[in-house]
Amino acid sequence: MLILHQAAHVQQWQSARRFTRHTIGFIPTMGALHEGHLALVTAALNRGDQPVVSIFVNPTQFNDASDLAKYPRTPANDAQLLIGAGADVLFLPDVPEIYPPGKDITVPFDFHPLDTVMEGRFRPGHFKGVATVVKRLLELVNPHRLYLGQKDFQQVSVIAELLRRIHSRVELVRCPTVRAADGLALSSRNQRLTPADRAAAPAIYQVLNDVKTAFLSGENADALQSRALEKLQSAGLRPEYLEIVDGRTLQPLAKLNGHPFAVACLAAWAGEVRLIDNVIIRESEGVKVGG
Ligand code: AMP
Repeated sequence: MLILHQAAHVQQWQSARRFTRHTIGFIPTMGALHEGHLALVTAALNRGDQPVVSIFVNPTQFNDASDLAKYPRTPANDAQLLIGAGADVLFLPDVPEIYPPGKDITVPFDFHPLDTVMEGRFRPGHFKGVATVVKRLLELVNPHRLYLGQKDFQQVSVIAELLRRIHSRVELVRCPTVRAADGLALSSRNQRLTPADRAAAPAIYQVLNDVKTAFLSGENADALQSRALEKLQSAGLRPEYLEIVDGRTLQPLAKLNGHPFAVACLAAWAGEVRLIDNVIIRESEGVKVGG
């Protein structure tokens, strides 16, 4: 596996492979890798792509300085995991490689209404930071496909919209959420959970599944939302939001009726750690990946 640290080296690698027939599958991450990330590498290999992975803890998507400072960083272990998973290239830049000093590369548009609901409401500026770094990385890596996890459902929607706005030909592939045996979605932030908070955290997935069952059976969102929030609280978690939304527009749904694409999304604090998760309630054939 080739490890590159500089943007210029990624560009050199890109131009050197101009005449190869291999397609590139790009997997952007923030490191502290786990099976969820490695599943994206496997998904790329399964489609015949050469997996290129980036690890970059992107400061512009953190709206909380202490979350950024405490974000786990394990580059040596990550590189070993990626070799084992079959990645071809690891791009490991530092901040000035992505954000050249004196140059403002912020995406000039926003993603309203996709970036103002849910995560966007609680983490102002987060998606502008995500879109900016993904756009910059796409320009450097120039992949055929971009692999993202369903775990960050709203991020997939925002990036799908980014690709539309910049008329990109990159194909977006949304991969299923990888979970621990007890249902907790794998996340780099799980490392920071105390044993008691780790024991409480599986309630998130249980509640999401209860919401899915109730909504599918025709219940109103209002009633089942307040029941779900109570359950999370009694499990010892502090929920920030639980929303049932249209999978394309991310706008709230009151009732399922004939909706082809409905998703339940939530964020909750387990002690000092903020966790997010979602389940797809219904996604009919023909609904495009990423909304
Ligand atoms: P992150 O390192 O958290 O920025 O995540 C990098 C990529 O891995 C994103 O596309 C995430 O959605 C994806 N990802 C993170 N956790 C999981 C998981 N448990 N299952 C599937 N994909 C995941």
